[in-house]
Amino acid sequence: MTAQIIDGKAIAASLRAKAAAEAQRLGKEHGLTPGLAVVLVGENPASAVYVRSKSKQTVEAGMRSFDHRLPEAVSESEVLALVQRLNADPTVHGILVQLPLPQQIDSQKILNAVDPAKDVDGFHPVNAGRLATGLPALVPCTPLGCVILARTVHPSLAGMEAVIVGRSNIVGKPLIQLLLNENATVTVAHSKTRDLPAVCRRADLLLAAVGRPDMVRGDWIKPGATVIDVGINRVPTEDGKGRIVGDVAYAEACEVAGAITPVPGGVGPMTIACLLVNTVRAACAINGLPKPAV
Ligand code: NAP
Repeated sequence: MTAQIIDGKAIAASLRAKAAAEAQRLGKEHGLTPGLAVVLVGENPASAVYVRSKSKQTVEAGMRSFDHRLPEAVSESEVLALVQRLNADPTVHGILVQLPLPQQIDSQKILNAVDPAKDVDGFHPVNAGRLATGLPALVPCTPLGCVILARTVHPSLAGMEAVIVGRSNIVGKPLIQLLLNENATVTVAHSKTRDLPAVCRRADLLLAAVGRPDMVRGDWIKPGATVIDVGINRVPTEDGKGRIVGDVAYAEACEVAGAITPVPGGVGPMTIACLLVNTVRAACAINGLPKPAV
């Protein structure tokens, strides 16, 4: 079998276009321009690249982008003060604090300070709790993207055996709730799971969010399964430039899976697209408008 390649780039582009169309409609009908504020502390090069592309795509979608850059040595109270200002700013509908933060800052304290209504990353405990109890919530972008990708292959996930490898707060745990909401039967594996290959082989839908290059081998995959690879791992190459691979041994997996996301070009592009969707949703909710069509 040769797996269908799930084109995350194209699916993300179409999602961004939908978010842009909704932003335009909100402008026309309500004089409302959704605004996203991004807080970047320090000089982490990967974070800086990521923040630049968030700002660019926000502006391209017809929304306002507010970039706040703070020096590496900034104090926790200064970051908290900025978050409070953004909470109170009516032109800001989404607030994202880029992680990781420097050591002197308690990340959880900062995330907890974001107004849950503007928490477009979905990391605030109020949004995590709302998601877990089936209430409307702002949902973390990467897991949301995973479910959208899976649904391009299976319009309904009801009754499917889904196995998630990884239980982080930003990917694995929100995926549990999202997949339960889709009526999948969900198993979560982690570093203490016994016989991980056998657990993975049960999956009709296998989602890997581990951070270990090529960990999931071809013979861990049930023939015909759909595989969503969240991993982003840089591995060395002979030319010294390195390359990005996922958590799934892609070439092997393509021989067995029914459908698979490539890395790069699978889950990655969905994250920012979902961030734009969350910003439009937050802008509507904050202004008492109905849920947008995206
Ligand atoms: P994380 O917080 O480090 O969590 C990794 C999870 O994998 C943990 O639950 C850990 O289990 C589990 N794990 C580690 N080694 C394992 C093993 N040998 N067998 C089974 N499970 C194992 O990572 P994360 O933040 O969720 O990110 C995971 C990957 O996704 C990374 O490559 C990251 O770069 C990528 N990612 C991509 C995007 C995107 O596409 N935009 C966004 C976020 C993350 P324990 O809990 O037992 O330690």
